[in-house]
Amino acid sequence: MARRKGLGRKKRSTVREKMWEEKHEDSFTHDLARHRRGRLRLGEAVDAVPGQPEGKCLPNATVITHSRRWAFVSYDDGLSDAPENPGPLCRIDERLREEEESLLAPGDRVQVQFEKGEGVVVAAAPRKTRLMRLGGVHSRIKQQVLAANIDELVIVASVKKPLFSPGLVDRFLIAAQQGGVEPVLCFNKIDLDAPPAAFLGLYQELGIPVFCTSCITGEGIQELEDCLAGKLCVFAGHSGVGKSSLLNAMDPELKLVTREVSEATLKGRHATTAGVLYMLHRDIRVIDTPGIRALGLWGLSAEEVSLYFPEIATESLYCKFRNCTHIHEKNCAVQKAVQQGVIARARYESYRRIRSGIEAMKPDWL
Ligand code: GDP
Ligand code: ZN
Repeated sequence: MARRKGLGRKKRSTVREKMWEEKHEDSFTHDLARHRRGRLRLGEAVDAVPGQPEGKCLPNATVITHSRRWAFVSYDDGLSDAPENPGPLCRIDERLREEEESLLAPGDRVQVQFEKGEGVVVAAAPRKTRLMRLGGVHSRIKQQVLAANIDELVIVASVKKPLFSPGLVDRFLIAAQQGGVEPVLCFNKIDLDAPPAAFLGLYQELGIPVFCTSCITGEGIQELEDCLAGKLCVFAGHSGVGKSSLLNAMDPELKLVTREVSEATLKGRHATTAGVLYMLHRDIRVIDTPGIRALGLWGLSAEEVSLYFPEIATESLYCKFRNCTHIHEKNCAVQKAVQQGVIARARYESYRRIRSGIEAMKPDWL
């Protein structure tokens, strides 16, 4: 279809079927034998490329999905049809160094060089924004980047099946602010029940665009689409709230796998396994990443939590103690504001939960 941009039809369907991974993952083992020469940092090119300032990354492609050694990319205009282009599957140069942060993530801008009939990712550009989760305790990578260069984090909640949970929304709002990403809130399944009016007002007051949608009646889908046109986004939210259905509704050709919400638990099942960037019409690009469920509030100290709740941060200026935790102190302006209904109780409860969650993780010696 002419209305789509970027990847050609054939290439994109390859990504959707995730065949490339099965086809090529075996060959990774052969790569292990390669000598690891000097290693480079993010944003540096591997070789001095003719006509390019040494060590600079001149991106010409975007990462669609990747594994440790291979990246599936979408080339910038003008390069995708170039006769010397060997295709979207590229080897990642072994000398690119993975430091504290993941080397590549869907949405990353990279420089691909064509060498002897194969595309090689020789450099990755610094990220403008990122959504991260903490690496495991034993993981070498401390900050696992789930998606790079995101414009919008679409936080999806459903009014029913599963029930709306404000706590998760507040966590995602913090993660968005940390990564420099604009948040958007989407109340889905409004065919089942009315969206919670108090929360609609609350988030709108915080300056967050709110959309109410139904994938069954189509209500609100156009408005959401208008907001996301031309942007790179990530959909986040509980499993089963309708993230895949929303993407399918925005572009019926996409045909993402959706699963019936498990009636037994109403928690839903996990249908996807690896992060992939999808191109929809109107230049909407979406990174679908299952890891988003475990989005961590990396590097956030208990004291900093209030800074990510603007209404609490504002009110805290009137607390008696400068280091007030707003939990047990007397003369706490925040607690007073909650009692008076100036700060929404649900938001305050989120604040307490997130704060105590971080405190519980703090090592004894701190
Ligand atoms: P995801 O896990 O967030 O990607 O959720 P899915 O898109 O897989 O949807 C989970 C279930 O909710 C599926 O059975 C969908 O058919 C259903 N669903 C999605 N959107 C809506 C909606 O707007 N209204 C209703 N009634 N059901 C929906
Ligand atoms: Zn206080």
